[in-house]
Amino acid sequence: MAEFSDNIARLEPSPTLAITARARAMQAAGHSIVNLSAGEPSFPTPRAAAEGAAAAVAAGKTGYPPTAGIPELREAVARYTMETTEATGLEPGDVLVSAGVKQALFNLCYCLFGAGDEVLLPTPYWPSYTAIVHLSRARPVDVSLAWDKGFRLTADALEAHRTKRTRGVLINSPSNPSGAVTAQADLASVLEWAGEHGIWILSDEIYRRLYYGEDRESAPSVLDVADRPEHVLALDGVSKAFSMPGWRIGWAVGPPEVIEQAAALQSQTTSAAAGPSQYAAAAILSAPDREAVVGEFRDTLDGRRRSSFEVLRAIPGLDIKDQPGAIYHYLRLPEGRTSMDTAEALLVEGGVAAIPGDAFGTPGYLRITYAGADEAVAEGGRRLAAFFG
Ligand code: PMP
Repeated sequence: MAEFSDNIARLEPSPTLAITARARAMQAAGHSIVNLSAGEPSFPTPRAAAEGAAAAVAAGKTGYPPTAGIPELREAVARYTMETTEATGLEPGDVLVSAGVKQALFNLCYCLFGAGDEVLLPTPYWPSYTAIVHLSRARPVDVSLAWDKGFRLTADALEAHRTKRTRGVLINSPSNPSGAVTAQADLASVLEWAGEHGIWILSDEIYRRLYYGEDRESAPSVLDVADRPEHVLALDGVSKAFSMPGWRIGWAVGPPEVIEQAAALQSQTTSAAAGPSQYAAAAILSAPDREAVVGEFRDTLDGRRRSSFEVLRAIPGLDIKDQPGAIYHYLRLPEGRTSMDTAEALLVEGGVAAIPGDAFGTPGYLRITYAGADEAVAEGGRRLAAFFG
C-alpha cells in the first residue's frame, strides 16, 4: 500500500465528477440514464473563440505563454470586466489568467490562507471550496443559510461565525448548487463587514452572466459595489457563460500584489494556462458578437429553467424555489429521505443522475442541472415525476 503525505490527508475526489463518471459507466453498460449531474452547458464553442485559437496556432504562437496570461487576454479581461460591471480603471496587472476558475481559486487560497486560519463557506457551497481550503491547510467553517429565505447571504450570518482566526470568505453568486443570487445591497454589507475586520472576500462569479432576472443584464458583482476594494478578488471565466469548459480558462481580478503572488505560485506549478486556449478566450471576449452569444445561451437556458421548473414544482413532496441564476435547480426532499440514498435509487431505479446535497454541505437536497440538451432536460423531468410521484 502506498503511503501518502499529510498534504492530502483531507482530500476527497470531486463528488460531482464521481457521479458523472458512474452515470457514464452505466450508460456504456447499456442502461438508459439521463445525466442531470454535471454542470456543463450543451452549446458548442462560439465560432470567434475557435477561430481565435486556430489562427494563433497557424501563426505559430505556441511557445510558453507569460505566467499570468498573454497580454491580449489580460487586457481583454480587464475591458470585459469594465464593460459588464461598474469597475473602472482596471489594467492587465489586475488580472491573473489560470487554467479555469478552479486553479485561480486554488492559487489565491494557497497564497492568502494557511494553518490556523479559518475560512467561512456559506452553505450550500460548491464542493471544491472545502477541498481547496483544506489543501491550503486552513479550516473551512460552514455558515448555513436558510432555505426558506432563499439561501440569502447576509453580513449577520457571517458575523455569527467570525473568530479572531477568520481570514476569508468564499462567496458564490449566482450559486452552484442553489441558483440563488445575492442582492447588491447584501453584497455591499458583506464587503463592508469584511473590510472592517480585515477579511478577504473571494467572490466566485462564474455564473454572473447566467442571470435570468429582468432588472439587469448580469447578477450583481462585488465589482459593482466597490471600485477596486483592497480586500476583494472577483473570479470569472469562459466555462459557463461562453460554454467553453474544456478550454480551461478562468481568471481572478484584484489587487496587483495578490495577483503577482498568485502568478508566482502558478509559475512553479503549471507555468501558465494553455496558450491556444488563451487566444480563444481573448477572441470571444473581444468579439463584436460577444453579447449576442451570451444572450442566446442565456435565453435558451432560461427556457429550460422555466419549463423544468414547471414540471418539478408539480411533483408532490418535492420542494423547489424559483431562483434567478446559474444552471441548477436545488430540490428539497421530503422529510425522512436521505439525499445519498435517494440519489443512488434515482440513478439505479429512476434512470436519472443527480448530485446529493451532502456534497454541498446540505444533506436533504438534490441538485439537478438544466444546462443539458432540451430532450435530456424534458426526459429527466418526466423520470423525476415518475420516481417521486
Ligand atoms: N466555480 C463554480 C461555482 C463552479 O460551479 C465551477 C464549475 N462547475 C467552477 C468554479 C469551475 O470553473 P472552471 O471550469 O473555470 O474551473
